[in-house]
Amino acid sequence: MNTLSRRRALRLGAFASLAPYLKLRAQEGGEKKLGIALLGLGDYATHQLGPALKKTRNARLAAIVTGSPDKVPKWQKEYEIPDSGVYDYETLEKIADNKDVDVIYVVTPTALHPEFTIRALEAGKHVICEKPMAPTAEDCARMIKAAADAKKMLQIGYRLHWDPFHLRLMEAIKTKEFGAWKAIDVSDAGRMNDFTRHNAWRVDKELGIAGALYDLGVYCVQAALYSAQENPLKVTAKHWTEREKEFSEVPEHWEWELEFSGGRKAKGFASYGKNGNHVKVETEKGEIRIDPAYGYSGQKGYTPAGPMDLKPVFQQQLQIEGQIEAILGGKPSRVPGEMGRRDIQIVRGIMEAAESGKAYEFAKFDY
Ligand code: NAD
Repeated sequence: MNTLSRRRALRLGAFASLAPYLKLRAQEGGEKKLGIALLGLGDYATHQLGPALKKTRNARLAAIVTGSPDKVPKWQKEYEIPDSGVYDYETLEKIADNKDVDVIYVVTPTALHPEFTIRALEAGKHVICEKPMAPTAEDCARMIKAAADAKKMLQIGYRLHWDPFHLRLMEAIKTKEFGAWKAIDVSDAGRMNDFTRHNAWRVDKELGIAGALYDLGVYCVQAALYSAQENPLKVTAKHWTEREKEFSEVPEHWEWELEFSGGRKAKGFASYGKNGNHVKVETEKGEIRIDPAYGYSGQKGYTPAGPMDLKPVFQQQLQIEGQIEAILGGKPSRVPGEMGRRDIQIVRGIMEAAESGKAYEFAKFDY
């Protein structure tokens, strides 16, 4: 066993002992589902994760954690959540006593992910944390340690690992179906014109850290890495801002180039000022492309052999089901905290490169 898989096996061992108990719970009465608590009832929780949890076969919404009491009645009614399943951010620790909650799903602004994730793990619950994982790689390391200490799983909400178009791309690269890859081009960008409501924290340095680079760029980093099937060696980058007033704290546009083995390059672009939504991978036998790529639906994919003939799925439903399966089966997650930390290491490298104007060389990655 190589060092990497030994480390993964050790990590797995930490929670594998829970697998029989959790499996039993899932099977009790034929349809026992693991209970999830959504922490942060904003846009994504309301319009994607809540509806997904109505469909998941192995999980149900059992509790809510919110700082907005006005949201509580609607959620309680819609999801039949008892009073005993309602928490606020101050009373979160009490969730430790709630046997109906197995997993806490953290869906707050980025800067709050570490605190809530660690508190949830310390309360003895598994955690799914939304992307991007945390402001810094050190924060990610603290979150990973908290999971290991609590013997619980920590997974990231990377829904595209259950999207058939992205899975098709990963498979084609892994099997070298169209030969080795030669160049990658990824872009996730959308012009933001309303800076209120859930966009306000995204352009706030303290909560959103570096704007589009974190929120959208992390999807580009993900796509580049599963297109390359290896980690990058170095990066050059730049950022710029056109609307100075709206983007006084974080840059409006980010552009970078990751360099991989053999000098192969992956260009990346993330922006709140322009539009972009693709993964393009040039292979020896032609282009693999997903365009549009990152939405909740509407993907279109192409390979050198023709268009991808794939049906759309409810990404978040499949994601949560897959993440619960990993918990129940004591299996490694497709999207562990370690993957989230690797991506934040790359995002921070992009920031360093943009600030210095020089290439940033990555230290060795643990994942
Ligand atoms: P949102 O602003 O709509 O929701 C954020 C929630 O956090 C709100 O309920 C808000 O009340 C709560 N919150 C708690 N403390 C807060 C504070 N100090 N300041 C602001 N809000 C606070 O944002 P969203 O679009 O739902 O995004 C939430 C998380 O989900 C982010 O991490 C985001 O990156 C992620 N997300 C992921 C996807 C995806 O495709 N996986 C899509 C959208 C959002």
